[in-house]
Amino acid sequence: MKKPPGPDRERRGRLVRSLGALREMLPGSFVERKRSCGHPNCRCADGKSLHSQFQISVLVDGKPKAFNVPAELREQVREKTAMRRRFDDAAAAICSINLKRFLAQKDNR
Ligand SMILES: [Zn+2]
Repeated sequence: MKKPPGPDRERRGRLVRSLGALREMLPGSFVERKRSCGHPNCRCADGKSLHSQFQISVLVDGKPKAFNVPAELREQVREKTAMRRRFDDAAAAICSINLKRFLAQKDNR
């Protein structure tokens, strides 16, 4: 009979299975910037009714880059950068379970 998995192994299994849903994750962070367009007759000329500009801010080869995001894609990009944080949290939780298991295994040799 198979040894029943402990709560840590069950939790690790759930975490690993949750990663597939995060496959569309994007790196970096989603940012919204306010800017004026420079046209003297535009609503933004008062310096208050500024335009929103959406960007994804990422490191590419170690250098910070910002790429514009079209307004209609902003929710998608916001969600996908949040996926990366959930991925990192899950990876950290898996590592901490594995460390605990490694230390227990090492002591029980
Ligand atoms: Zn403007």
